[in-house]
Amino acid sequence: MLYKTEGIVLKSMEYEEADKIVTIYTKNYGKITAIAKGVRKTKSKFGSSLEILTHSIFLLYKGRNIDIVSQTEILESFFSASKEIIKFAFAANCVEIVNKLTEEREINIGLFNLLKEVLHYLRESNDPKLLTLSFKWQTMSILGYRPSLNHCCRCNKNIEDHKKMYFNIKEGGLVCDNCIVKDKEGCVKVSIYFNKLVKKILITSLSTISNATIPDEKIKELEKITNLYIAYHSEKSFKTDRFLKFL
Ligand SMILES: [Zn+2]
Repeated sequence: MLYKTEGIVLKSMEYEEADKIVTIYTKNYGKITAIAKGVRKTKSKFGSSLEILTHSIFLLYKGRNIDIVSQTEILESFFSASKEIIKFAFAANCVEIVNKLTEEREINIGLFNLLKEVLHYLRESNDPKLLTLSFKWQTMSILGYRPSLNHCCRCNKNIEDHKKMYFNIKEGGLVCDNCIVKDKEGCVKVSIYFNKLVKKILITSLSTISNATIPDEKIKELEKITNLYIAYHSEKSFKTDRFLKFL
């Protein structure tokens, strides 16, 4: 059985002498792993369509154990690793997160569109780190891990802006003054700025965020909490996160 879908390559691995195994986030079928045969021969019909970060139309053949890539047509090749190393690293971080946080064949068109959007806007973005972190919060929200930022995640009391605010990674949101006295376990201190920023990120389009910048010391706090929050939900560490720390 043949099927056709739009998709973005999350991961591409060499396999045996001339083949490749690719992980594709598709619009209509969710995450798919497939094999492409003869890709590494000089006259391969696939060209660069199976490279990471490439957005293509895929024609796939349903195999017994693994699906087979039959034909591809490139729609957009987002980045070249050799020309734009820093932006490439941020983009690679975005696809890595989608790969880590999704299961095979779980359809999520909203997440597919968000990924397409972040890769598109990363190229022109004023602040690629802010855009990448915003993508991560929006991804968490789409996947059902939207943090509680207006109400205490334990007792549901309204949270008022306070100099000392506490965010609990595992419980998924802010903890109020009453609850924090009883149990501080797993709570990280956050600023009012952080709280306002994440609330704003969750309701702003990536195209608008790509024109924004925030001061360095503010982005450090956002980065720290974002990565703790995502690491908790994915339980794995991200290779490109470690790479980006060295930049
Ligand atoms: Zn409370």
